[in-house]
Amino acid sequence: MVEKRIKGTDNRRAMKKDTDISVKYCGTLAEAVRFIERNQICEVGLWKKFVKVFKEHKDAEGEVWYTSWRSEFWGKMMRGASMVLAYTQNESMYKILEDSVRDMLSAEDELGRISGYPVEREFQQWDLWGRKYVMLGMMYFMEISKDEALNKELVASMQRQADYIIERIGDGKLDIRDCSKNWEGLNSCSILEPMVRLYRLTGEKRYLNFAEYIISTGFIKSANLIELAYADEVAPYQYPVVMAYEMMSCFEGLLQYYYVTGIEEYKTAVLNFGRKIVENEISIIGCSGCTHELFDHTAVKQTQTDYDGIVQETCVTVTWMKLASALLELSGDSAYADCIEQSFYNSYMGAMNTQRVPRLHEKIDVVPQILPFDSYSPLVADTRGRRVGGFNIFDDNTFYGCCACIGAAGAGVIPEIAVMSTDDGIAINYYEKGSVAARTPAGNDVILTLNTKYPYDGRIEISIDTQVSEEFTVYLRVPAWCDDAHISVEGRTESVGSGYAKLIREWQKGDTVMLELSMPIKRVLPQEGALNEDIFAAYRRGPIVLAADKRVTDPDGVLDILCDGNGTVAEREVCCHEIPEHEVCFEVELTNGKSVRLIDYASSGKTWADDSRCAAWLRRK
Ligand SMILES: [Zn+2]
Repeated sequence: MVEKRIKGTDNRRAMKKDTDISVKYCGTLAEAVRFIERNQICEVGLWKKFVKVFKEHKDAEGEVWYTSWRSEFWGKMMRGASMVLAYTQNESMYKILEDSVRDMLSAEDELGRISGYPVEREFQQWDLWGRKYVMLGMMYFMEISKDEALNKELVASMQRQADYIIERIGDGKLDIRDCSKNWEGLNSCSILEPMVRLYRLTGEKRYLNFAEYIISTGFIKSANLIELAYADEVAPYQYPVVMAYEMMSCFEGLLQYYYVTGIEEYKTAVLNFGRKIVENEISIIGCSGCTHELFDHTAVKQTQTDYDGIVQETCVTVTWMKLASALLELSGDSAYADCIEQSFYNSYMGAMNTQRVPRLHEKIDVVPQILPFDSYSPLVADTRGRRVGGFNIFDDNTFYGCCACIGAAGAGVIPEIAVMSTDDGIAINYYEKGSVAARTPAGNDVILTLNTKYPYDGRIEISIDTQVSEEFTVYLRVPAWCDDAHISVEGRTESVGSGYAKLIREWQKGDTVMLELSMPIKRVLPQEGALNEDIFAAYRRGPIVLAADKRVTDPDGVLDILCDGNGTVAEREVCCHEIPEHEVCFEVELTNGKSVRLIDYASSGKTWADDSRCAAWLRRK
């Protein structure tokens, strides 16, 4: 029996990711998916190499740091690949995943473990973290697998994997927070999510009990993070441990636990946690962490100039997109869909290695690799491709990284949230040229056709073809960045504010809706109290952040761009032959009378070298 992750099996979700809704797009998402298929999913050798880690159990060998978390790679990539395949339904790619899943089943040892660590060194470092990803990878694959026999095998294997852990960890046994010296055990506690999901798959109470045990620990040793989130007095960057990605993973698990138990305190804790992230931790490009990979009050630090370390990790971008999609489903608050598009069009698309730049390691002798995703994204002037996050090597001296593995899940979020179902109709969260097949509340088929150049143009035409005339509600997301939006339905035009515009109507075949989102270039100033708040400004056109790229504009120079009293910049779309891969390029005027060109942030910096040094935050002085 496959768990219905998406279909509403309870009434605890305000808005539902619905497996009955299928979407097909031909814009940004299509481009991202094609890139991931070609540069990752079809790499059969990579899948084999990742499974081999579990057959050899050498992850902890010699305590070399660069082999200690290879066991996260397989499950992380399988989860993302399965999410992408849920969208593409590509048969040949499916076969590649199926082969790898069967290969992984054969990696289970005689004790029922699928671990990269040997028994004598297990439950250390990133062992539980890796086992979590194995189970999640299998669970996400099951959602695209129609092979009941294989699914049964997967559940049986996951039960053996989980039982081995439960027998040894828990009250009166090994403390889960002692199963890693990193982050007070926060990484180990994130195994909560697959444990809850396994309970949903099997109905076996012992997995739920184990989930309760993890929750009772509060995720770290020195404080209870769930209580901190519930109390809502401090923000995540003020917690004793601030590792962004691991912490969000724990709260993703807590939300799953809420769905099966209905304990309201946990819902409140998750919602508080999400809101505090939005308020404190999200940068202009939609990522978090301006000190390494940590929550650190990003909203204030994103304009720092005295820190030369890595910032804005792709694992954080993608985990945030996933958590935001879960928060959207839980709350029905369109602000989370706004967050997802901000991350998707900027930090996420920017991290794609579209020019296939090969990488090495500055200190370790390895075979050069082309990884599909970059790990860190610049905010103030810097180059892309600075370092491989989560760098780990294999026996053949090749390597891979954490962010490269997680990448696919980011694109995989989009079709899940693009159009969601509500009790009274459907909600459209994502606009891209394409079509959507959905069901009305009465169970009739409805086809939506979206005609738009969004996110590069604000006109979105949606035709709604219903099988039979029926009254239901269509919710259209009006992004918060837009202060001038209009909706026309069959000739009647109205001005609408941000949030969901609610259209209740007896829909008939051939009805059309026009959503017009005005998107002039707007100046964004750092929030009050931000570092260098008087020096920097960013520029956004709709959801697209604009950047200076050294190939056309010096990102280190003073770029005091002329704007009116409302922060609106006069725009002239121009060509940019120096950067062939760009999506948009605008010439804007400076206060000194000169003009410069800015391109979309996601296309900036793509040579991963000094020649395309780039910046999202531009110096005004
Ligand atoms: Zn990473």
